[in-house]
Amino acid sequence: MVMAIAVPLTLGAVSLVGWWLGGLAMQPIRYTYDRLQRFTSDASHELRAPLATILSNAQVGLMSPVESGQTKHARLEKIAETAKSMNRLTTDLLFLARQSGRLDSNSIRSIHLNNLLKETISMPSIQSVAQQVTLKLELPEENILIKGNPDLLTQAIVNLLTNACKYTLPEGMVWVRLVSQYHRILIQVEDTGIGIPATDLPHIFERFYRVDSERSRDRGGTGLGLAIAYQIIAAHGGHLTVSSQVGKGSLFQIEFPVI
Ligand code: ADP
Repeated sequence: MVMAIAVPLTLGAVSLVGWWLGGLAMQPIRYTYDRLQRFTSDASHELRAPLATILSNAQVGLMSPVESGQTKHARLEKIAETAKSMNRLTTDLLFLARQSGRLDSNSIRSIHLNNLLKETISMPSIQSVAQQVTLKLELPEENILIKGNPDLLTQAIVNLLTNACKYTLPEGMVWVRLVSQYHRILIQVEDTGIGIPATDLPHIFERFYRVDSERSRDRGGTGLGLAIAYQIIAAHGGHLTVSSQVGKGSLFQIEFPVI
């Protein structure tokens, strides 16, 4: 498969480059402030749209006391569905806000990656999203151990795997692979899905970035799943990269150095 590779930059690296190019000591602070302002404005925008849907449906419902049972039911369903998506969004936002970029030393355990992947693909949430695709797990014979926070790592893999299933058409394939090489450990989540255009790849790990907003929202997306996965992997000293081709599929790869 011919693929475009996107290697994301860390916030620190971007700040450093900004400082170096501009030659002004204040620039990294300005950069962080702009980023924070953009994030706050993006988050408010993301919350306002569903809130407006809930409000308008509730107001129309209140002004139409003689609505048929069916119409009322459809309206309440819309309100409940929109509130659920707001709930997902605020959960993701809180998760990102709590992450400092470093692991809490009390949460670090020895993780048996073979078991963690087996357990992750058996989770009911994954089984339900993977109903229409074939999901395959490929593990090495030896047990691969790393140190980290198992709950966070599971969350990162769930996010990648959920996307792989969500953005793959029925009958497609999704693979989860664990590969141990001489100096690195790889976890790959590959799909035969719709793929990501090369122009979107450099932005794909940014918060709220979506290739197709409507499609993403329709599939229950918050636009934060990859940003969260990226942050978790970075906190573990690892690297998350993506390669993809439209119409062929995507490969998300987590790489941990062997220390
Ligand atoms: P979302 O909640 O919208 O899925 P993510 O941060 O998880 O947000 O992903 C960002 C965007 O990247 C998605 O909206 C989608 O357009 C694209 N994307 C992520 N994973 C895949 C994939 N495996 N195949 C195709 N597109 C993907």
